[in-house]
Amino acid sequence: TSYGFRQVGSGEKQPLVNEVFHKVAKRYDLMNDLMSAGMHRLWKDAMVAWLNPPKRPGWKVLDVAGGTGDIAFRIIDASQGQVHATVLDINGSMLAVGRERAEKRGLAANTDFVEANAEELPFADNSFDAYTIAFGIRNVPRIEVALGEAFRVLKPGGRFLCLEFSEVEMPLLDKVYESWSFNAIPKIGKAVTGDGEPYAYLVESIAKFPNQQNFAAMIGAAGFERVSFRNYTGGIAAAHSGWKL
Ligand code: SAM
Repeated sequence: TSYGFRQVGSGEKQPLVNEVFHKVAKRYDLMNDLMSAGMHRLWKDAMVAWLNPPKRPGWKVLDVAGGTGDIAFRIIDASQGQVHATVLDINGSMLAVGRERAEKRGLAANTDFVEANAEELPFADNSFDAYTIAFGIRNVPRIEVALGEAFRVLKPGGRFLCLEFSEVEMPLLDKVYESWSFNAIPKIGKAVTGDGEPYAYLVESIAKFPNQQNFAAMIGAAGFERVSFRNYTGGIAAAHSGWKL
């Protein structure tokens, strides 16, 4: 099926993605704040509030493309330190930063860090109560394979939540956003990391990602039910939710 966008073959895309995040790992958190003008924090808070993790031990979340741990730490905090988070990422450099942050925050006991591919999760079927992925799925070459894996590792009754850049649905804001992303972001990237190229890739990958409706259809096609989404900041970002029932 075509969902109104074209995916780059996994052969060409993943090595490029890996190089980008290997290069930026140490400055990733700073870059996030600069490039989104701090807004990624609000979007992440909103997604975790929607997830509303329980305040009891025994509940397990898998945060895929979890990078430096932003989502996992928020989920643990929201559960008042009760739940367990597995942070999975294909990039060891990002995970190393995450592990260090977990220790500094005293969250090492609540977290695991696993280096693996979202397209091939090293977990048994029906293992997790929730699966989260933030600003990660658009980097995965075969999105429908990653969605299938999400469905497989979730327990029946488990929740899927994805935060991603999306289609701006507010007139004017879309123009401002376009100019910001195509002009400012690669320049900030170059100024901070010495290389604008990786950021040009990131901006392009956002433009290529399916819009809210098309992505919801893909989530449904993977088997999830009660699929819905919420726009943040006029659709600059959106969170999608689905349930394995
Ligand atoms: N979730 C974090 C956040 O919101 O701050 C990090 C997002 S970062 C933009 C994207 C992450 O996706 C990177 O850490 C990258 O290594 C990871 N990634 C890219 N391709 C992946 C794949 N196939 N499987 C797992 N992780 C992947």
